Amino acid sequence: TTTSHYHLIDRAEALKRYKPLLPYAHKGTQGHVLIIGGSYGKIGAVCLSTKAALKTGCGLVTAYIPECGYEIMQSYFPEAMVLTDGEREIEKIDYDIKPNAISIGVGIGQNPKTQKALHNFLKKNTIPLVIDADALNMISGNKDWLTLIPQNTIVTPHPKELERLLGNWEDDFDKLEKLKSFSKKHNVIIVAKDARTLVVQRDDVYINTSGNAALATGGSGDVLAGIITSLLAQGYAPVSAAIFGVYLHGLTADVAVKEISGQSFIASDIIKYLSKAYNNIV
Ligand code: AMP
Ligand code: MG
Repeated sequence: TTTSHYHLIDRAEALKRYKPLLPYAHKGTQGHVLIIGGSYGKIGAVCLSTKAALKTGCGLVTAYIPECGYEIMQSYFPEAMVLTDGEREIEKIDYDIKPNAISIGVGIGQNPKTQKALHNFLKKNTIPLVIDADALNMISGNKDWLTLIPQNTIVTPHPKELERLLGNWEDDFDKLEKLKSFSKKHNVIIVAKDARTLVVQRDDVYINTSGNAALATGGSGDVLAGIITSLLAQGYAPVSAAIFGVYLHGLTADVAVKEISGQSFIASDIIKYLSKAYNNIV
């Protein structure tokens, strides 16, 4: 047992970490995000994540997806650049671009070929990383791969994914102990997504105060992964990208429910309200 240092993520905490858009910015200074993910039937996850990244302020975004997603992505979101590999799922991860931050996992599936591609990617990658969804699940099944990831990699599990990563916990206290020791052991920042999302870095526990149940909708987490990776590419320190990202993501829903019903709020609406949420913080 170690002492926890608790912090609330509120507007003041987010503002402290905010990086304004500078007048002489150009797309090359705003960061290039690479989003690796998607599989047949789950291309939408990468579409949402990719659009969310650019709408959060990075300068460029490239999506690395299976061939079957090419036209879907280009039609849904023309601002994205697209690299493809494999027909229905990713089989190897190979590119010659130099992104500032990478996310891997949204919609990626768990095909054995994809699993091998993920392992090879982790062996060679040194760029700041966000790991979500099935990439995280595959790592949960191969815990020794955690030695391959860069320091301060951000992992973004929902409760089920967290259970696969940490094992079962007895109660909230035990869960917190497991989160902290996992963060320390593997040098990762954990974004434990829930109605009250926690960001855990070593003994520091940040509790998000934005967001509401409107966010309980498919694709919500894919959008969050795009937001956090975008901030990381823009030069936010990893823990700040996680903190500002979860706050901004939650705030979109808080702003939205004043205008539309929480029931009809969907993941695309998170993206739609990003701009108003930003303006609510700054
Ligand atoms: P995922 O399950 O990966 O799609 O992620 C769901 C996202 O929605 C996470 O960011 C959660 O924190 C958020 N979320 C889901 N349900 C709620 C809720 N009842 N209140 C606030 N946020 C929620
Ligand atoms: Mg998810």
